[in-house]
Amino acid sequence: MRIKKTVIEKLTNLAKKSDVRSQHAAAILNNKGEIIVSATNYHLHKPYNGKIWKPEGKYTIHAEEAAYIKFIQKYNHLIKGGNSFILIVIRIQRGGTNCLHSKPCKKCTQKINKLIKKKVISKVYYSVPT
Ligand SMILES: [Zn+2]
Repeated sequence: MRIKKTVIEKLTNLAKKSDVRSQHAAAILNNKGEIIVSATNYHLHKPYNGKIWKPEGKYTIHAEEAAYIKFIQKYNHLIKGGNSFILIVIRIQRGGTNCLHSKPCKKCTQKINKLIKKKVISKVYYSVPT
């Protein structure tokens, strides 16, 4: 399946809002290629003595993680219904318009592979430099 241009445009604009230096956006699409949820990567840090997570510090929630967190919060019933979905991740050049490599990191790849095995995710797309 070809990813629609409008999906790429939406994710490109969304990635620009990321507060992380390396700006990513991810979306989970249904099998018609429509966006169900989308998210950027973002900073999240848990202070050693605090219970509240703060949007500062070194730790970041990766875009694909963020999209999946939203997805299970809102659409867990779709997963239980046996549907499978498409994951798309893009990374943009900060201040520019070009895409960069957004291949998932080792940690996300492991998570994604589990979801593929469970048939929750059927395909993964990531951006490459243009
Ligand atoms: Zn990652």
